Amino acid sequence: MSFAELGLSKPITEAISALGYSTPTPIQLQAIPAVLDGQDLLAAAQTGTGKTAAFVLPILEGLKHQSLCRSKEIKALIVTPTRELAAQIDANITDYSRHLKLRHRVIFGGVNSKPQIRHLNAGCEILTATPGRLLDLYNQGAIDFSKLQVLVLDEADRMLDMGFIHDIRKLFRLLPQKRQNLLFSATFSKEIRKLAQSLLRHPLEITVEANKTVRKVEQFYTLIDHKQKSQLLKTMIIQNKWQQVLVFTRTKHGANRLTQKLEAAKIKAAAIHGNKSQNARVKALSGFKDGHIEVLVATDIAARGLDIKQLPQIVNFDLPNVAEDYVHRIGRTGRAGESGNAYSMVSEDELPLLQAIEKFTGERLQRLEFEQFPASFTRSSKAIVNKTKPRPNRSGNKRPQPANKARKSAPRKNPHH
Ligand code: AMP
Repeated sequence: MSFAELGLSKPITEAISALGYSTPTPIQLQAIPAVLDGQDLLAAAQTGTGKTAAFVLPILEGLKHQSLCRSKEIKALIVTPTRELAAQIDANITDYSRHLKLRHRVIFGGVNSKPQIRHLNAGCEILTATPGRLLDLYNQGAIDFSKLQVLVLDEADRMLDMGFIHDIRKLFRLLPQKRQNLLFSATFSKEIRKLAQSLLRHPLEITVEANKTVRKVEQFYTLIDHKQKSQLLKTMIIQNKWQQVLVFTRTKHGANRLTQKLEAAKIKAAAIHGNKSQNARVKALSGFKDGHIEVLVATDIAARGLDIKQLPQIVNFDLPNVAEDYVHRIGRTGRAGESGNAYSMVSEDELPLLQAIEKFTGERLQRLEFEQFPASFTRSSKAIVNKTKPRPNRSGNKRPQPANKARKSAPRKNPHH
């Protein structure tokens, strides 16, 4: 099925084909016709599935022949938890709407609001916003919601995790009753269901590999003593000649410390986390994208929604406390149509987290052993790991043998070195 057959017209299909999108992803196949039809949507999909285009493309199609908004008016509102994600969605809208006469803007906190107010004053058809700044500017009289037709809540689970529920509920009360609502969430918790019930009318429910990782990611782990981790990372980067790797740490402090250690080893690195100014974050991200920075060290929240083309590998320097975050992290590699590798460094105290991740994803990570970095785990910890047997993957093939049977002294050779 082609994008045209889903109901998208030429200016849009031409723009996406120039980006290399040849066939719709599963979520796009289901969501695009439903959104064009005016239906509400409850979609379980994570970053990496093509979900942004799944809602942006039909919104563009719906708005393309409409008259332009007047001062302060908007027609479509996309609310998303983080600044990076908001900026990323707006960048996608720029790409997708290249051949259309539509105006789109993005607003988020942490930067001067004056230019944002000025832009809103002209009116725009599609606004992407983080919740706090959106309400702030509304309260200042900068936005008129009376012409709003479509509301998108993106990464709704993360918005709830970040404590935005009150802002979201406040927002609902400000919007016109008659509107289309699209809710995207990586997971469907009880809270999300409750939110969906109060927001959506007879929604179409779409589930795309809910709670499952993106198929094309090969997942590896190494048992390693905590204090050896940075040395192992340096070795992996140097031996494999990695030029673009995203590394996750659990804390901002950990991200800073690791960045310093990498820089001391002449590896070009930058940290990206909540304590960094917006300018510093944008600079780090653009440096990473254009190749000046080889290693971007990020915390989970900072990394949400980062869209970096063809990221060949990510490294979990620390395992996340929450298994869902693991899925989001590895969603940074193996993006639509491309393959990638995810490496996790697991210290003894993180073994329960590794088990929780494997249970949550239903997938077994493959073990790698580095002879120059032997882990000094207790016998009982090693026993937990050794008990694990490879399970068949979804296609029915056996996964490669774990490292206690087939020892590997370096990461598997892969085409992304
Ligand atoms: P998202 O899940 O929206 O973050 O999208 C993940 C990545 O997939 C982005 O880099 C998009 O540019 C890309 N993408 C989205 N739809 C398609 C498609 N139909 N074909 C190829 N790439 C796509």
